[in-house]
Amino acid sequence: MLLSDYAKFRSQFYSKKALNHLSNRFPTSKLFLTHSATGALEMIAQTIGIQPGDEIILPSFTFVSTVNAFVSFGAVPVFVDIDPVSKCIDVEQVSRIITPKTKIIIAVHYGGIPANLLSLKGLCKKHALYLIEDAAMGYGSFYGDQPLGSIGDAGIISFDITKQVTAIQGGLCIINNTELFEKANQVYHIGTNREEHINGNVPYYEWVNKGSKFQMSELNAAVLVEQLTNEEQIFQHRKGLSLHYYTTLKPLADAGLCKLIPEWFISNSVHLFYVETSDLSERNELMTFLMKKNIESCFHYIPLHSSKFGKEIGKTSGEMSVTDHTANTLLRLPFHNLLNEESVQRVTNAIKEFYNGRK
Ligand SMILES: *Cc1c(COP(=O)(O)O)cnc(C)c1O
Repeated sequence: MLLSDYAKFRSQFYSKKALNHLSNRFPTSKLFLTHSATGALEMIAQTIGIQPGDEIILPSFTFVSTVNAFVSFGAVPVFVDIDPVSKCIDVEQVSRIITPKTKIIIAVHYGGIPANLLSLKGLCKKHALYLIEDAAMGYGSFYGDQPLGSIGDAGIISFDITKQVTAIQGGLCIINNTELFEKANQVYHIGTNREEHINGNVPYYEWVNKGSKFQMSELNAAVLVEQLTNEEQIFQHRKGLSLHYYTTLKPLADAGLCKLIPEWFISNSVHLFYVETSDLSERNELMTFLMKKNIESCFHYIPLHSSKFGKEIGKTSGEMSVTDHTANTLLRLPFHNLLNEESVQRVTNAIKEFYNGRK
């Protein structure tokens, strides 16, 4: 099968097909399929031209890729606390720590729940900063009627195996600011003007800038096309699972025993489902309780401001109390495309049993 598709791979049949599909969702953006969302972030850092000493403001509560891409070019990360409900960057705090060195603000849409983009956009406009959206977990989610990733100057989405829609490994770089289009093209094409050559504007292509091979492999693109074709079923399936989790666990939340993801969000493209316990020891007990029943749950994340390298090179603004509390109490429940309703029932039964035993 693989060799018979050689001609298709060679002509990037699958990448073109995937891009064609994605351009319906992002009609005015310039889109680049990448080998990962991590790669897409690196591409953005290089396109913006991050210089040593530039400051970037981002939530401490995120995955390492968000920060690494920029730090690799010498940026100094400034970690900010999150909002207790959305788990996204606390805009109030951001407004207080912008300095002349600040170059970008990164909004991470935790679990696909949108950050307060309207306020962040206003701040960026006022201080001439770039707004970058880490929508790695946000494919299929919206802010108002705009898809996540399409609102900032640039955004990224992950098509990793752990995300809603997958290429097994892959990502999408979304450039919305037209002033960045040409440079992004060059960075993506290993520092050449190949794009212009493809479009017939120049007779040959040559080295014009810095860049790298960020491209998604055709094998991954073939998987992605199949997933994109079925994306509505995937979204519906996940919506069903999150509704099931939510309605079954709601009585526990109403009784004040635990907290759940925001109710308004469960009808979106949910990347994850979590409960929040009252403290760290309760979370550890719940995790152990579930593990004994062969149910795998996990926490998120070691906050960047308290991680080994983050302490060494980053700046932390303020108390970080919400981040610390969330990192100690949030527990992610099993949530993936192959999960079925019976499994959700088994997990929620176990959680109910845990809390009933503690009353
Ligand atoms: C998964 C994830 C990434 C990285 O995505 P990859 O495709 O694995 O590189 C970056 N940021 C966040 C918030 C993520 O959840």
